[in-house]
Amino acid sequence: MRPPPRAGGGNPIVEARGIHKHFGPLHILKGVDLVVAERELVFVIGPSGSGKSTLLRCLNRLEEPSGGSITVDGIDLLDRRTDVNRVRQRIGMVFQSFNLYPHMTALGNVALALRKVQGKTRAEAEARARAALDRVHLADRADHHPAQLSGGQQQRVAIARAIALEPRVMLFDEPTSALDPELVGGVLQVMRELREDGMTMVVVSHEMAFARAAADRVIFMADGRIVEQGPPAQVFGAPQQERTRAFLGQVE
Ligand code: ADP
Ligand code: MG
Repeated sequence: MRPPPRAGGGNPIVEARGIHKHFGPLHILKGVDLVVAERELVFVIGPSGSGKSTLLRCLNRLEEPSGGSITVDGIDLLDRRTDVNRVRQRIGMVFQSFNLYPHMTALGNVALALRKVQGKTRAEAEARARAALDRVHLADRADHHPAQLSGGQQQRVAIARAIALEPRVMLFDEPTSALDPELVGGVLQVMRELREDGMTMVVVSHEMAFARAAADRVIFMADGRIVEQGPPAQVFGAPQQERTRAFLGQVE
């Protein structure tokens, strides 16, 4: 059974307040507030260029916000004294491109961060990497190299690599956008299972059917702002804002 949605309840894992981001003269994020509760799956939609990726990248300090505050699991991400590499271990990120090392096996790719970042022994790292590959249903592909795997399998290795570090929150930036249509389902299934296991997740994606079925909350962003948010039935079924209606009319 899927745990009950915790939107509005639960401890906040991510607390981003008043996030601004400038790139030179461009004002890309214009005061975004995003609070994500433990076990919540928040889905972010919006037109290309609206700032979705920039927002996710701010949440794990791949980008430095120009203003605002961010805490993840109670740690101040923007405090200079915070060890960004340590915090990033609590924040798993999965991108559209899988970024696996081609010369390493699936197991090697997943075990690498455990050894380099967490200082595990080879045996320990490989045991945890095998468990993570099992969770994404690739236990039998541990010794394959990326070129021997489908795009969907490679993305599931990337997910295993992230969850092996036991993050408190997972950020997904268009995880299925680079995949052939028949490979999308397997990745979404793994994400659904993670959600059922209680993982806190922020997902940027165009998979609206998945959002309807699995999201606790849908956020519509446009032009660097959150325009509208609510439960999927509300945002998809009865959008309040004209911009949301126009966007959904184009994509659905
Ligand atoms: P989305 O993910 O919603 O498509 P992005 O966050 O990728 O949007 O981009 C929002 C805007 O910020 C775009 O206009 C993009 O060109 C701009 N942008 C993103 N990263 C940079 C950067 N490093 N330098 C300059 N502009 C950037
Ligand atoms: Mg993007």
